Amino acid sequence: MKCNYQIIFLHQFWCTQEIFHLSIATPVFLGLMFLELVVGVLKTGAPGVTISDGLTSISAGMISRLPMLLVRGCELSAYMLVWERYRLLELPWDSAWTWWFCLLGVDFCYYWVHRFAHEVAFLWAAHQVHHSSEYYNLSTALRQSLTQQFASWIFYLPMALAVPPSIFAVHIQLNLLYQFWIHTELIRDLGPLEWIFNTPKHHRVHHGRNLYCIDKNYGGILIIWDRLFGTFALEADKVVYGLVYPIKTFEILSVQFHYYLYLWDKSNTYKTISDKLSAFIKGPSWSPGKPRLGDHLNNPKVTGKEVPHNPSWSPLLQVYVVLHFLLVLQTYHDLLENKMMLSQLTILGMTLYVLLTLTSLGFIMDQRPAAAALEMLRCVAMVTLQRYGAVKPLLPWLAVPTEVRRQWRRF
Ligand SMILES: [Zn+2]
Ligand SMILES: [Zn+2]
Repeated sequence: MKCNYQIIFLHQFWCTQEIFHLSIATPVFLGLMFLELVVGVLKTGAPGVTISDGLTSISAGMISRLPMLLVRGCELSAYMLVWERYRLLELPWDSAWTWWFCLLGVDFCYYWVHRFAHEVAFLWAAHQVHHSSEYYNLSTALRQSLTQQFASWIFYLPMALAVPPSIFAVHIQLNLLYQFWIHTELIRDLGPLEWIFNTPKHHRVHHGRNLYCIDKNYGGILIIWDRLFGTFALEADKVVYGLVYPIKTFEILSVQFHYYLYLWDKSNTYKTISDKLSAFIKGPSWSPGKPRLGDHLNNPKVTGKEVPHNPSWSPLLQVYVVLHFLLVLQTYHDLLENKMMLSQLTILGMTLYVLLTLTSLGFIMDQRPAAAALEMLRCVAMVTLQRYGAVKPLLPWLAVPTEVRRQWRRF
């Protein structure tokens, strides 16, 4: 009985959480991103975000949530299982002590999730998505990995020995939401708060590719874990953001998966089984004969004069891409909001359409030769889906061409 009650509660929580994300968090995020853009222009005379980079980050955020549509969240499912079968004690769910303990516990586990994600190459293959922007603004916070969620849940399981799932489910979300606002260059220093909390200043260092920034400041809400475990670094030289070897693409599938291919190729260059395995489980900079985390001194030197990848492209194409991005954002919103009423097949079809659209827009932003052909294919898919009602016409005037054709047939 108790088990059923917990499952029903978590199921309702899961739905509430989606509604929370869609109806509250999304407008708040978009509002803050717009505010950051305006303040950035007023302060520095230039926007701290570009269309191509910003849309790629938001696209990554959208994609990272798609697995939730087809499978239940890994974290909560595994957590429930351990709680039901192996819990050692049951902390009272309505106690303030439990609440604070869980806040600390989730943040402590997050520190280790995050540290392993940087120090183990196959986990880094997922997490590098978050670091792949050469800009640092609120949209960077949304640049999340599709695959990281399939491994990170393991690190939270010890909490299931004592903390009720309902409390854990709240804190795992709070921890993630907290980390949105720290992705900005506009907040420089927060005084004494810098001693305890993870702040924009500390997290800028985490996103840097300067030598002093590598593998530093893993904290989620609190920075005390980095201070305790020797991974803290204070912001010093101008931080140059992004990966040590920038990917220079806005195509979302490359952003999400390129490092898996690189790892596979890297492992194939080694002769022994031990070296092949080490390529996956040691640090991303490791090579035979080097310490576990490799030697960062071999990284390209950062001068502070690096310019982010931002190729120029036609203003008309920019308008086209932004318009179609807004349309697919609406489709994505509809998909998440109505997922309980849609069949698995419709969900799969709409998911593939969202992926196709974001990929095609990435091809256009990358100015690839195949962009026009892929975009034509996508437009055919869009019109077909609209005609059969899977995607509603988002702007009435976009339905006009199909209406015109109907008129012609009559005559
Ligand atoms: Zn990181
Ligand atoms: Zn970050």
